[in-house]
Amino acid sequence: MLRYSFLGISIISAINFLLTDELLVQLLLAICLLASLGIAVVWPEPLPPPPSMDLWSEAPDEKEREMKVCSHCGKAVDKKWSMCPYCSKKV
Ligand SMILES: [Zn+2]
Repeated sequence: MLRYSFLGISIISAINFLLTDELLVQLLLAICLLASLGIAVVWPEPLPPPPSMDLWSEAPDEKEREMKVCSHCGKAVDKKWSMCPYCSKKV
């Protein structure tokens, strides 16, 4: 948004430059034109606002994995596993 303001200033300066006959005013307008146009070209776009902190709380809770208990050591293991990671026996 700010760079459009500078672009507008440079356009107005260009119009004034064409309308005036005073050499000093022309010189000042030329400086103003170059400065504002330069800023309008090189001015970086503002960074987007940081995401709000409550964005992460909207994420769904991790899905509860289905568990089963190992018949050998009694520890809870993932239901998809066929081998117990604790005692290396078939579940
Ligand atoms: Zn086990």
